[in-house]
Amino acid sequence: MQDCIFCKIAKHELEAEVVYENDLVIAFKDANPVTKVHILIMPKEHIKNFYELAKHPQQALIMGAVTEAAAEIADQFNISEGFRVITNNGRAGGQSVFHLHFHLIGGQELGMKLV
Ligand code: AMP
Repeated sequence: MQDCIFCKIAKHELEAEVVYENDLVIAFKDANPVTKVHILIMPKEHIKNFYELAKHPQQALIMGAVTEAAAEIADQFNISEGFRVITNNGRAGGQSVFHLHFHLIGGQELGMKLV
């Protein structure tokens, strides 16, 4: 998608601190980290959000790639014992960039409170 900043990151047209990449997904450090480790994992293809992913013919493949990426990144940052994966869906769900992405946060005690 032409004006999507995350599409530009996926195509390496916009700089980001990439920590993981393969044909399907790319992961990079969040520009405004909320925890010591805060990585965004996303499909390279432009999919608006998690709700739209459900309609995608390669939904399972993409989720599998995201899951593998999350585990590898958790190992990379030594946080496999405890981390959280979140996706904000739609404006009311807190989404501000409308290219599906998953926040992988950790590196500190997160507690059980979700909101
Ligand atoms: P969300 O509110 O779930 O859509 O999350 C969007 C996230 O993208 C926020 O945590 C931002 O800090 C992050 N973000 C926005 N632009 C960039 C960028 N160019 N590089 C890295 N992270 C970004």
